[in-house]
Amino acid sequence: MGDGSVRKLVIVGGGTAGWIAAAAFSRLLGQRLTIELVESETIGTVGVGEATIPQIIRLNTILGIDEHDFLRRTSGTFKLGIEFVDWGSLGSRYLHTFGDTGMTIGNVAFHHHWRRSVTGQNAPDAKGLWDYSLHQHAADQARFGKLDRVGNTAMTGLAYAYHFDASRYALYLRDYAEARGVTRTEGMVESVTRDGTSGDITAITLAGGREVAGDFFIDCTGFRSLLLGGELGVQYDDWSRWLPCDRALAVPSERLPTLVPYTRATAKAAGWQWRIPLQHRTGNGHVYSSGFISDDAAADTLLAGLDTKALGDPRPIRFTTGRRQTFWAQNCAAIGLSSGFLEPLESTSIHLIQSHISRLIQLFPRSSHADAERAEYNRRCADEFDQIRDFLILHYHRTDRDDSEFWRYCKHMAVPDSLTHKLELFAASGRVGRDADDLFRDASWVQVMLGQGIMPADYDPMADQMAPAQLAEFLANLRTLVTRAVAGLPTHEDYLRQHCAADPASMAA
Ligand SMILES: Cc1cc2nc3c(=O)[nH]c(=O)nc-3n(C[C@H](O)[C@H](O)[C@H](O)COP(=O)(O)OP(=O)(O)OC[C@H]3O[C@@H](n4cnc5c(N)ncnc54)[C@H](O)[C@@H]3O)c2cc1C
Repeated sequence: MGDGSVRKLVIVGGGTAGWIAAAAFSRLLGQRLTIELVESETIGTVGVGEATIPQIIRLNTILGIDEHDFLRRTSGTFKLGIEFVDWGSLGSRYLHTFGDTGMTIGNVAFHHHWRRSVTGQNAPDAKGLWDYSLHQHAADQARFGKLDRVGNTAMTGLAYAYHFDASRYALYLRDYAEARGVTRTEGMVESVTRDGTSGDITAITLAGGREVAGDFFIDCTGFRSLLLGGELGVQYDDWSRWLPCDRALAVPSERLPTLVPYTRATAKAAGWQWRIPLQHRTGNGHVYSSGFISDDAAADTLLAGLDTKALGDPRPIRFTTGRRQTFWAQNCAAIGLSSGFLEPLESTSIHLIQSHISRLIQLFPRSSHADAERAEYNRRCADEFDQIRDFLILHYHRTDRDDSEFWRYCKHMAVPDSLTHKLELFAASGRVGRDADDLFRDASWVQVMLGQGIMPADYDPMADQMAPAQLAEFLANLRTLVTRAVAGLPTHEDYLRQHCAADPASMAA
């Protein structure tokens, strides 16, 4: 310290973001840095965020976390994708799976072969694509198991993520980080001190007067964004015109009679409702736009849409969708809700936390002179946010629903040019115009575009290389392979019972 070298890291906030940061930094830079995390129990955490995407497995691998132990302690379950109900039209239903559908043949993505196979049909039904999805069959039968490949083919097996109890997850990571030397300080931050010349943050002062000094600060203070937004004044870009939901009501309910291996997102008149199956309870919430429905009516909608008995009263949460204009300013990076918020439709927030942390670790400065690293970090975080934003808007905008003012607004709103281009390209030719570093793969864009009701007018001409009889045989074989592979899997319940049953005492909590 004093010579500009970065030795002391202060993490402000102990929600999911703060504790993932503490765990990852202690694991990867713990020899170099002294790490202190400050959190206030009086303020508490947002307490939601229970569904993830497969990238979390990479985080667990980096941290050296044992998957079964992790699921036992967080009362977690496995997740193969998200079922979208009533989105493209009332009565529609599709699974955005984490895996491929069918398999690529001759360098041509499967959905082109499938599109060719339904050419000439009167009204081809997009649902047919999912006949070739391992994930769909496993989800329908509530099965789960470890499967890398289908038989001895090149067809990929089950990609998965987790559902878990958010409060237990933070505690789990806290144990992990404290065991690796992270110091936890309980206290409410009241003021921030900055260097008069550089403008860098030098210390935070807690209620009662204790000062916590540091060389680098990570702002994990949630929607408050105490350091980056508050102290450093980094502005927020509001995306509500494209993603108009701004409130949520969350309520736990009793456990589902059958633990299905997927999240469900059901579109409602002015938003949508999530259902997340955990071993001891079900997580539920209604995300809605206050411009189109009252809070009381939103609560009624939530409670009416529960599949099991509520275990409490709905808890309100307010938010503005968007992001900070920059994510790292001076010697402070914001991670988690303090950096921006994309609603949980595709369970991307915890992923953003983890990808920002891994990027920050990759670019972490030795000294306070880090203009180039900071610029690169900000560029990549901004791109990532923008790409996910477009994917979320797709779900709202590409709809045939016009049964409420909210859906009429979403259907007719102007969307970013980057999304318009992707919609037009897919509708014309079935091709996907995603960016190379987009979090969502081609398979995701294809499933959501088809699921929302876009049937491409054409397919890749390279698919015509295969003779019609050969194509028919190939498709029939694939269906058989998928059906057989799924029949060989245990049920999700049996898999959990055998490998990661939550401790019975904690099940009651
Ligand atoms: C409705 C909703 C549903 C969601 N669902 C999902 C989902 O399914 N999947 C997913 O990946 N993500 C989801 N998220 C996002 C997820 O909840 C968050 O990304 C995650 O919990 C991280 O929150 P955080 O740690 O940034 O903030 P918080 O949990 O709010 O933590 C903030 C921390 O800062 C501390 N703090 C604040 N001010 C001070 C102060 N002055 N002094 C000291 N400490 C302070 C607090 O005590 C707390 O420890 C959802 C979010 C919402 C709103």
